[in-house]
Amino acid sequence: MATDASTNRSYGFGTRAVHAGQAPDPSTGAVMTPIFQTSTYAQRAPGDHQGHEYSRVTNPTRSALEGNLAALEGADHAVSFASGVAGIDAILKGLRPGDHVVTTNDLYGGTFRLFRQVFEPFGLRFSFVDLTDPEAVDAAIEPGATKLMWIETPTNPLMRIYDIEALVERAKADGIDVAVDNTFASPYLQQPLALGADMVLHSTTKYIGGHSDLIGGVVCTSREDWHENLRFQLKCAGAVGGPMDSFLTLRGTKTLHLRMQQHCANARRLATFLDAHPKVGRVLYPGLPDHPGHDIAKKQMKDFGGMISFSLTDDAMDKAVAVMTHTKVFTLAESLGGVESLIEHPASMTHASIPPEERRKIGLDDSLIRLSVGVEEEADLLADLDQALQHV
Ligand SMILES: *Cc1c(COP(=O)(O)O)cnc(C)c1O
Repeated sequence: MATDASTNRSYGFGTRAVHAGQAPDPSTGAVMTPIFQTSTYAQRAPGDHQGHEYSRVTNPTRSALEGNLAALEGADHAVSFASGVAGIDAILKGLRPGDHVVTTNDLYGGTFRLFRQVFEPFGLRFSFVDLTDPEAVDAAIEPGATKLMWIETPTNPLMRIYDIEALVERAKADGIDVAVDNTFASPYLQQPLALGADMVLHSTTKYIGGHSDLIGGVVCTSREDWHENLRFQLKCAGAVGGPMDSFLTLRGTKTLHLRMQQHCANARRLATFLDAHPKVGRVLYPGLPDHPGHDIAKKQMKDFGGMISFSLTDDAMDKAVAVMTHTKVFTLAESLGGVESLIEHPASMTHASIPPEERRKIGLDDSLIRLSVGVEEEADLLADLDQALQHV
């Protein structure tokens, strides 16, 4: 349900978030899509069934979720996976040994590990470059061999902003497909397919699920060849999300637009507060006017998101730990995008798989602290950070 069939008027984001992919259950009238906890489906005669044969291939709860997420990204198709990295894994299996991928040097740690430690040994090749530098991108592209550009924006944890439209244009000049990890922005803030990208990847574990109660991933695309390939990978390797997780994700998307508005409002206020704090060094938030990606973010995002990274004037790991162990509303934990505020230390937690020399080279400071700003009361979050910073 992306458009009104009788008038062809397309529904707004909030309406799609609540309804797309889901109609009341025809057998009972249940308003919520049921959790179809079944592995197999009765057939009247061999091959004569009601659209589902075996839940590794399709499951009605998962299909409803796929319809919903496709509508949110403006895609013809969505393929739902058991996790974000399972979705990335499936995309990369569409490449062949010798193929080359250009990506950012400021990448989600799990993606970096998958590229480096799983796919390089199978013969895929990767260039990790600063995607804000057109010369570095030109130098990395190997015409004919580069098959995929992998973009993440805003990046994790350095909050760099990459110009999706400009990078798509550069990639297309050499026939390179573009995939965007849109996890940090969510489809509410940024829709890369409309900017020319071929695929969008989400860890639905984060903002889309929104309640820190599931692990999931999705790839959205309007490319028929990629869609067919992703379905094939899902069927062959079986990294499918379960019916319960699909249901919880669907429940999450219904409030995605509301939650994002609050995440953004709270983060904007906290970023301004941190920026003026004497114990805080750099504040990395694209909503701050002096952020190098501010103008591009304004162009390609609806708002600036709920993620903030900052370092301390005294750039020492133990100082960062002192802040993190003294917050009372912010919980010290990995992950992001849930209703509750989280605080973490990339250098020793989420990004520990990046070697220290490489980490420092890209500007990931020892004292860097990453916040996933939740939807609690802004004044409580501000007071909590203020008192925790007293311990530095
Ligand atoms: C969490 C995350 C992933 C991986 O997703 P999982 O659901 O944990 O497998 C990928 N990209 C980004 C940006 C993430 O934050």
